[in-house]
Amino acid sequence: MLRTTDRGLYCEAGDFFIDPWAAVPRAVVTHAHGDHLTWGCDGYLVSHDGAGVARERLGRWGSGVDAVAYGETRVVNGVSVSLHPAGHILGSAQVRLEYRGEVWVVSGDYKTDPDRTCAPWEPVRCHTFITESTFGLPIYRWPSQRQVFDELNRWWAANAAEGRVSLLCAYALGKAQRLLSGLDPAIGPILTHGAVERMTALYRHGGVALPATVHTTDALRAKATTGAIVIAPPSVTGSTWLRRFGEVRTAFASGWMRVRGARRRRGVDAGFTLSDHVDWPQLLAAIDATGAERVWVTHGFTGPVVQWLTERGLDARAIATRWEGERDDAAVDAGDDDAPAVADASAAHESAP
Ligand SMILES: [Zn+2]
Repeated sequence: MLRTTDRGLYCEAGDFFIDPWAAVPRAVVTHAHGDHLTWGCDGYLVSHDGAGVARERLGRWGSGVDAVAYGETRVVNGVSVSLHPAGHILGSAQVRLEYRGEVWVVSGDYKTDPDRTCAPWEPVRCHTFITESTFGLPIYRWPSQRQVFDELNRWWAANAAEGRVSLLCAYALGKAQRLLSGLDPAIGPILTHGAVERMTALYRHGGVALPATVHTTDALRAKATTGAIVIAPPSVTGSTWLRRFGEVRTAFASGWMRVRGARRRRGVDAGFTLSDHVDWPQLLAAIDATGAERVWVTHGFTGPVVQWLTERGLDARAIATRWEGERDDAAVDAGDDDAPAVADASAAHESAP
């Protein structure tokens, strides 16, 4: 039903692409991260929950956005298309396609860990499952979210007690809001860089309850930064923007913090292992829950995952990824767990795409 092309996954019967890599007439989009949402398409089908962030990210192409509720079926040239929660960021979706009795599901990025800022991942039964494998190695096992949030709040409180501002670097869309949802506002003020504040406003507009935040510019003007935590995109580390906060302790939150040396390579004081992707056991459990006999694996450690599945009798193979070849330290620098270098650059300059 789907085939790989030089513009990404294409459904011939329905004549549309899923998360295309180039401008196409019709796109079904899993979520608004830069490596899944491409500018210049004529039409975009996204989840209702994700329409706000997609329009913001698309700028002048946002008028082409058409939204459906999770679980609602849209028939496109005879192919039944529906979107189902992926648990990755606000509005993230798995794409279910049904045509002549055959069912395919494209996961997009997903996680099964709890997250108050988006609808939880749901297993969708299918014949063929196309899964990401960003952290598809047995070394990746996430600590519980509760544990990470407790460590984060303790770190912030300790910095505040020493009279230092805490700078927490996280990708502006998704990770920043999930971190916000776990912060204890009793410790001090929560400040946001403009790129984070814009996305946070869209989350609130979408009905996600988050602690109160103050834009950094306003807080600096009011000289109200004592004991504060600042949430900003990773690109601010080492920039002159940071100097205005005086003595700063820095931290980075990402699944890559699980790897020895990642914190040092980023040049931050602390690292928190918080990912918006499945870890190894969660990945295998999620694949199992779909009941799929055939699995295509993309993005990340495709080789080990394909081998593991093949050894268990599944028909598995790796397919090309848009950002293949950049999944190294550059990917970590991009800020998201999955290398949307372009989107991050725009966030750093606080300009709408
Ligand atoms: Zn993503």
